[in-house]
Amino acid sequence: MLEINQLEKCFGDTQVLTSIDLRVKPGELVFVIGPSGSGKSTMLRCCNRLEEPTSGSILLDGEHVTECHGRALDKMRLKIGMVFQGFHLYPHKTVLANVMLAQVKALKRSKPEAEARAKEMLEHVGLAHKASATPGELSGGQQQRVAIARALALDPKVMLFDEPTSALDPELVGSVLKVMKRLRDEGMTMVVVSHEMEFAREAADRVVFMDGGVVVESGTPDEIFGNPKSERLRAFLSRLS
Ligand code: ATP
Ligand code: MG
Repeated sequence: MLEINQLEKCFGDTQVLTSIDLRVKPGELVFVIGPSGSGKSTMLRCCNRLEEPTSGSILLDGEHVTECHGRALDKMRLKIGMVFQGFHLYPHKTVLANVMLAQVKALKRSKPEAEARAKEMLEHVGLAHKASATPGELSGGQQQRVAIARALALDPKVMLFDEPTSALDPELVGSVLKVMKRLRDEGMTMVVVSHEMEFAREAADRVVFMDGGVVVESGTPDEIFGNPKSERLRAFLSRLS
């Protein structure tokens, strides 16, 4: 379980997250929506300390992410898979090598072990046939699926997605969402920041609406989309349609 307690984040004098509380149960898919600048990315980045929280605590399966330092922090980060809008693959390495690298470097797996796991994960995202291609030879959707395979190969306890499809051409979005949906069906714990509201309706257990650095409302997709309570959420949803 991922637990965010009273998370606050300031950049200088500007407070961008205020009293964020969020609990993500094992196997749950929590979907995060909200206007640009509402703090969605900052919240995700605080979860693996890409941003340092100003105060509050974050726990993964009862362990304090916020109290880890040095090698303990590196180890903790491996348990938190992160997929961004851009894919950050090594352009000169093959797809297979991209998925193997962190396994060997960070998890100290042997090369044959890492290779077997990488092939398994590429199969999982439907890209076994692209193992020896370089990222430049793939479509954006395929590159994003490689990035997902790379994160999964490290056996994370939770996967955080920050707008994984927003850099993709519309026709490529579906293949990435399909992979995410499969992950969810297999019981992966996930936090997804995205504008794909259809996906939220179909796949999310819970939707969290953020605005101005606070969680304004959270509920089931039916509650959030069908019966929004706050004026801010109603206004946000009406701007989308
Ligand atoms: P978007 O939907 O556009 O991705 P978001 O909800 O992810 O927006 P964040 O990127 O978390 O929003 O930004 C929240 C606020 O924090 C914004 O006002 C942003 O300008 C500010 N911010 C983010 N990163 C920094 C930084 N490194 N230094 C200063 N301010 C920052
Ligand atoms: Mg963002």
